[in-house]
Amino acid sequence: MKKLPISFEFFPPKTPEGIANLRETRVQLAKYGPEFFSVTFGAGGSTRDRTMETVFDIQAEGHSAAPHISCISSTKEEIAELLKAYQTKGIDRLVTLRGDIPSGEVAIGDFKFASELVAFIRQQTGNHFQIEVAAYPEFHPEAESPSADVGNLKRKFDAGANRAITQYFYNVDAYFRFVELCVQHGITQPIIPGIMPIYNITQLARFSNICGAEIPRWLRMRLEAYGDDLASLRTFGVDVVSELCEALRDWGVPGLHFYTLNQSGLISKIMDNLD
Ligand code: FAD
Repeated sequence: MKKLPISFEFFPPKTPEGIANLRETRVQLAKYGPEFFSVTFGAGGSTRDRTMETVFDIQAEGHSAAPHISCISSTKEEIAELLKAYQTKGIDRLVTLRGDIPSGEVAIGDFKFASELVAFIRQQTGNHFQIEVAAYPEFHPEAESPSADVGNLKRKFDAGANRAITQYFYNVDAYFRFVELCVQHGITQPIIPGIMPIYNITQLARFSNICGAEIPRWLRMRLEAYGDDLASLRTFGVDVVSELCEALRDWGVPGLHFYTLNQSGLISKIMDNLD
């Protein structure tokens, strides 16, 4: 059977222990032959240096590394400088985002939407970078309508993006229907499902409230019923997420992108279940 392309997402660690832990996580996950490891970028550039250091660390180990880059609260000069730094170092893939609008009196900067950042990257660096953008099977919280949100995704592709990675979801039909809607809007590029393992329900519920990814009622109730028994919750979560990945693989998705939270344990179990 043809190997399904896989990628893993990290956040840039803050402490020496975090850096060492992430290195070990990479050793474990590298066994699955990922296409690339990506590293998130804090809104407004708050993790700029740590994102860069982590990306260069990954690259030095001989892996393909993709920094995330978000444009909210940034100027064109700042973004151009960042692109130059990555291009000079031979980084050739970017996960390109707007970022969440910061609360309070913070300047929006030179870019309002990710599509504008994609266009800027193409204008500055031609075809040097493979550009991945974000997509939302359950729709972005600010979207006016499903069709407006997919219209925005199309704008990102028209501006030069190559592929999309989705927000995580547990409703597999939401992804299938989303891809259908994308095709109706003339989108032909790959849409890679983003997969979130289930580490704990409190944290997952908090993320889901912010990003608009639904935890289906049956799943939330089952997870809540484990109370403090994290080990059993995780075993159950591994089953649920493995089945989700199997359904996606059988349907013929172009790849899977895992949100790792810098941990390898649950993902290794899911990958082993997927064989
Ligand atoms: P956009 O594509 O600009 O869309 C934002 C909203 O604006 C949507 O509702 C869209 O429908 C609407 N919109 C777009 N264009 C228009 C227009 N012309 N007119 C009207 N409405 C419009 N955040 C980080 O801060 N750092 C990260 O590293 C990071 N990594 C992520 C990785 C993935 C795979 C995903 C799915 C998300 C990630 N995020 C990250 C979160 C992301 O930044 C937020 O979801 C953010 O709110 C939207 O970013 P976007 O790139 O999708 O924005």
